[in-house]
Amino acid sequence: MSQSINETILRENVNPCTSSNQQFTVSPSTSTKKSIFSRKPQSQKILTTQMIQLDESDPDYISIKEGFGINLNSTRANILAIMKLQMPTKLEKAHEKYKKKMTKKLGMDAEEFTHKMHHGTKSSAGCDLRRFIMNFEAGESGFGNVEYDPTFCKENCGVCGIAQCGNKRKYARTKSLFKRNRMWFAKDPSVSLGFCNYGYKDTIKGMFIVDVIHKRDEHIIITTKERATLPRYLIIFEVPVNPFSYED
Ligand SMILES: [Zn+2]
Repeated sequence: MSQSINETILRENVNPCTSSNQQFTVSPSTSTKKSIFSRKPQSQKILTTQMIQLDESDPDYISIKEGFGINLNSTRANILAIMKLQMPTKLEKAHEKYKKKMTKKLGMDAEEFTHKMHHGTKSSAGCDLRRFIMNFEAGESGFGNVEYDPTFCKENCGVCGIAQCGNKRKYARTKSLFKRNRMWFAKDPSVSLGFCNYGYKDTIKGMFIVDVIHKRDEHIIITTKERATLPRYLIIFEVPVNPFSYED
């Protein structure tokens, strides 16, 4: 399953994350010309994010659902799918490098300062997140089925933007208030829910689980360091009635 998605996305060869002066190039490690004497294991460099839909029996799925369900219980959130994100190698490497640096600096184990946090953001008006779900069947909600399509939006979509490029200051909502946009992450998903799609029509939402490197374990972590963050999962869910709705 992931292989076919991988191929589809790689073939498109679109990179929405780079600004004008940055260019992704195809990794030499994928070249067949590589010397047979190379001792390095051939690891495929990921250029664009791959989403792998977790099976409901997957331990990751179960633990994520547990934490999410308890905290959003009062709003009756219904998880439609949980996607494991394999982010572009470039982002993973920058994150790992920063983690190593902080391990030395803080004299702590990485697990002590790498926190699983939630991050809510909006998808664009035309972005139906259910298209990412394989064999999606509308449940009791009554919404029609949607055709499977793993293509991300090209622009102006918070969910697709973060899924492809990681958390970026340019997506942060504090844009107009601060010179350097700050990114917010919450331990409690009900806090992040307030940043997701809202309104009567936007019952389908996306929320990320992000590894955030931060010295202290806090309920809200605010950072401007993009490399301190790495999205790990995308939860696609529906909330029939959104208590945060301002449009009703
Ligand atoms: Zn989108």
